[in-house]
Order: sequence, then C-alpha cells, then structure tokens
Amino acid sequence: MKASQSFLATLKEAPADAEVVSHKLMVRAGLIRKLSAGIYNYLPLGLKSIRKVENIIREEMNRAGAIELLMPMIQPAELWQETGRWEKMGPELLRIKDRHERDFLIQPTSEEVVTDLARNEIKSYKQLPVNFYQIQTKFRDERRPRFGIMRGREFSMKDAYSFDRDVEGMKQSYQMMFDAYTRIFKRMGLKFRAVTADNGAIGGSGSQEFHVIADTGEDAIVYCPNSEYAANLEAAESASVLVERGDATEAMQKIATPNQTSCADVAQFLNVSLEKTVKSLLFAVDQAEGPAKLFMLLIRGDHELNEIKASKIPGMAESRFATEAEIVRACNAPAGYLGPVGLSAEVTVVADHTVANMADFVCGANEAGHHLTGVNWVRDLAEPLVMDLRNAMVGDPSPDGKGSLDICRGIEVGHVFQLGTRYSEAMGCTYLDQQGKSQPMVMGCYGIGVTRLLGAAIEQGNDERGIVWPISMAPFEVVICPMNYDKSDGVKTTADQLHEQLMAAGIDVVLDDRGERPGAMFADWELIGVPFRVVVGDRGLADGLVEFKGRTDAESQNIPLAQIKDKVI
Ligand code: ATP
Ligand code: MG
Ligand code: MG
Ligand code: MG
Repeated sequence: MKASQSFLATLKEAPADAEVVSHKLMVRAGLIRKLSAGIYNYLPLGLKSIRKVENIIREEMNRAGAIELLMPMIQPAELWQETGRWEKMGPELLRIKDRHERDFLIQPTSEEVVTDLARNEIKSYKQLPVNFYQIQTKFRDERRPRFGIMRGREFSMKDAYSFDRDVEGMKQSYQMMFDAYTRIFKRMGLKFRAVTADNGAIGGSGSQEFHVIADTGEDAIVYCPNSEYAANLEAAESASVLVERGDATEAMQKIATPNQTSCADVAQFLNVSLEKTVKSLLFAVDQAEGPAKLFMLLIRGDHELNEIKASKIPGMAESRFATEAEIVRACNAPAGYLGPVGLSAEVTVVADHTVANMADFVCGANEAGHHLTGVNWVRDLAEPLVMDLRNAMVGDPSPDGKGSLDICRGIEVGHVFQLGTRYSEAMGCTYLDQQGKSQPMVMGCYGIGVTRLLGAAIEQGNDERGIVWPISMAPFEVVICPMNYDKSDGVKTTADQLHEQLMAAGIDVVLDDRGERPGAMFADWELIGVPFRVVVGDRGLADGLVEFKGRTDAESQNIPLAQIKDKVI
C-alpha cells in the first residue's frame, strides 16, 4: 500500500483525558478517535490491527472446531426476561424501545440469543457437541469508561458458546477453548497468564480469566512464581489461608454494631493482628449479602455500584434500579459526589468509620478522616488501604503449597466459563438423548476482548517514540522510506520495485510516497510502531545497499537490497 492512499492521522499531543500510555499512543498514532465517552471511531490503521487480531482469533477458533455465525446487536427483551437478566442487570444494559414501544436492548453478550437458537435448531444428541462463535460489537454502559478502547462502552468481542450433552462434554469443550486461547495470545506475542476467577466456594476450574501482564492493569493477580497457581483478587482472598471463617463472623458482628468499633479494637477483641483483622473483615463482607456486600464493593471501588435495586434503599419499596441521585441521597454522601457509594446511610457510616479507622492503622494517620468531602472521598481512603492489603498477601504460602504468593497487575483480555445448565434450564434448551429422553444442554461461554487487546498489547509494547507492536498485530509489517522519492529516479524505481516485490511475497508493506522530510517521516512510522523500516537513498544505492532498522534496534544497518526480503519474512 502507498501511504498517500492510506489515511495517516498522527498527532503531536495526546488528548487531555488519556491516562494510560496505550490510550495516548492510539490517538497520537491515528488509530482511534473519540466520538463520545467510551465510543470510538476506528481509523483505517486501527482497523487494520483489529482485523489482524480477528483473523488470529478466527483461525484458532476454527481450528478448535468452533463455528462462526453472527447474532444481532439489537435483541428483544423477551429472551432476557426468560432468564431474568432483563430485570437483574443494572444500568450497564442499554435498554431501548422501538416505534411500537416494544423493549429491546443492545447486546452486552449473547447467551440468551444463542440459547434460543440452539433450542430451535438442535433436537438430537447427534447434533451435539457444537460450539458457535461470533465477532460482534457489544455495548455495555460502563460506569467509568476509560483507557480509550480498553474499557469502552461500545467494543468488539469474540464470544463463543458451547453446547454439550453432559458435564463431561462441557469440560472437554472448555479445555479446547482454554487451549485455543493460549495459542491465540501466544501468536499475538503477548505476555499473559491464565488465572482462576472462581469464587473459592465453587472451586475447580469453572472459570478462568486470561490477563495480559501490565502495571497499568485494573486487576490484581495473586500468583505463585514457582507454580501454575494464579488467581484474581476475589478468588485469592476467599482462598487466603490466613482468613478463618470464625474470626470473620465475629469481627463483622463487632464492626456492624451501631456503636462503632475501630479495627484496632476488633483486633484486640479477637486477639489477632490488625492485618488479620482487616483481612477477615474483607472476607466477611465478601461473603455477606445486601448492604455489607456493598461496603465491600465500595472499598474495592467497583464499577457497578449504582446497579442497586431501589427496593433495597430504606423507605423505597419499588422494584427498579435506583438512580444515582437516589443512592447519593440515601447514603448521605457529600454534595456532588458521583463515585461509588454505599447503599444506606447506615452502611455509609460503617464504611466511613471503618475505612477511616483502617486507613488510620494500616496506612498511618496521614490520610484518615481528611477526605470526607470532595469527589473521591471513599476512593482516596480506600485505595491505599486496599493496596496495603494486597501487599500484605505477598509472601503468604500459596494454596498449592509450592511456594509463596506474589502480586502483579493484569488486563483481562479473555474469560472462559463453564455455565452448566443455567441458561438451558431457564430457556428450555433441551435435546433428546440416546434413550429418547429430554435433557438440558450443558453450556460454556468464552469471550475475548478484540478491541481491548490492542490497548493491552500497546501497554506491553511502547517506548518514548511510540508503539512497539508485536509483528502479528502491527498495521503494517514493513515501511519503505525513500529519500527524495519525487526527485531521484533511481530511488523511486528501487522503492517502487521493492514495494511490489514485498507485496508479492505476501508482506504487509507500506511505501511512504508522501514526500515528507526524513525526520518527520521516521517519527510518524515509529509512533505508529511499524516493526521494520527500510530507507532507500541515492548514497546507499550507489553500492546496492539500503538501510534496514528494526523498530527496537539501536542502530540501522546497511544491507544489500536483495537481502531485505529475507530480513522481514
Ligand atoms: P471487566 O472485568 O474488565 O469489566 P468483564 O469480566 O465484565 O470485563 P466479560 O463479560 O468476561 O468481561 O467479557 C469478555 C471479555 O470482553 C473480557 O475479558 C474483556 O476482554 C472484554 N471486555 C469486557 N468489557 C469490556 C469493555 N468495556 N471494553 C472493552 N473490552 C471489554
Ligand atoms: Mg465488566
Ligand atoms: Mg472481569
Ligand atoms: Mg470477565
């Protein structure tokens, strides 16, 4: 491709709302442009990378026996009412009405539709197992869209759904998807880890997340450097060997009494360390339902806190989702506060008090009590606390007994899930077994964040000049930069020929025919992150040489023109 026929839109400055390097670089390199919060245009170069990611996913899904189809973005509410998710899902679900006032939604995921399809199309055990997948736009009205397309509201996901005759079959389908995901992320050249996402109570390998390792990741991963053990924070906390249920319950009772007790008092009462008390409390709240649960979410800064049933707010009996204003009022939160808040005034008091006290003791007196006004008061207090807790887990024995725990951060790029019969039973998705008996299909579901993967790859691959793509995801593999393309016939002919030759060899090459000065030209392609650069100039050509440079090489090297092809294949 010639650069003049492509669309380059590089920028010197990153947008003010870009917090992480991948967001900054994706905008600066001209891959994406924001249209609205969490909603982006994918510019031509960004789309090229997306297509490459999609192709890798497609190849590996097909190899694993999954079958591609495409389900609608707009789905009728009726199906979601069958599973109860129409009511259960909070404001993350974008509900819409058509001209007849009928309810629809924009899909955040497609279990209902695929289950409907399976119940209509699949009758016999002979048609099972089957695994359907699609690569489709999703919409989730995220509470805090951020990091560019890493946490967008509109984004692209590969979602797959397996249907099996029995649990044994489901486990095999799950394993095939797990293996396919491993191949996919390896081919993309990413540093990643599969982590247990289970609640400790469920156990086993019912659900695993794939995380790209990056300091800017939103999730904490607890892992053992000496073994395969890795779990997300929730799974690790409930399995934490330091926490005992008895302590937790007692601590909880103590802290939840109207006359507030400090964490230190609780620790003294239980005759255990403050650290253990804090852990026990968090564990207790994690296990709890209702208001206490919200407290947990609150100190985690969870994104979906406003998905609270109005009926749970004191004095409100309605069964609908509370508005943000209602929650803020119920919590007696400071004016203007729109972040994560607890459910009732009572809980907020507990939360304030507990968080303040915990912060007081765990983090020293510095932060405590000073942040009760302003926008992010809970966050300000809770973040250091949660960080401390996380760090306290470092060095604990790993549950598999093979070493001690460590913590790193990750970006969730994939998730595999054994669903069982939750959806098939709710929706009557059955087949006739060999004995002619009706059985519910046993399902699994498997997601990959297609667009998020671009951001994740850039978080892992960047330097002060721009993006450092893995070759499999780069918008172009090679760029040819001719010096004086307009003025030197020799350069023009050679560059054009090389361009043709590389294209014919199946290499994704771009020829920069824009006539830019070398400095500006090199800066653009380094920002965009093209893995290989070939500079064609009169001086080298006199000796049959061109200048070759890998994106991360310190120096370029002069090599014979004829060797370029071997260098980049
Ligand atoms: P998260 O914990 O980051 O909110 P999730 O657990 O809600 O993600 P899943 O329902 O497991 O997401 O969806 C499958 C995959 O879709 C995720 O692993 C992630 O890669 C991607 N994904 C989810 N939400 C978003 C989003 N808002 N923007 C971009 N990709 C997303
Ligand atoms: Mg989510
Ligand atoms: Mg998640
Ligand atoms: Mg997930």
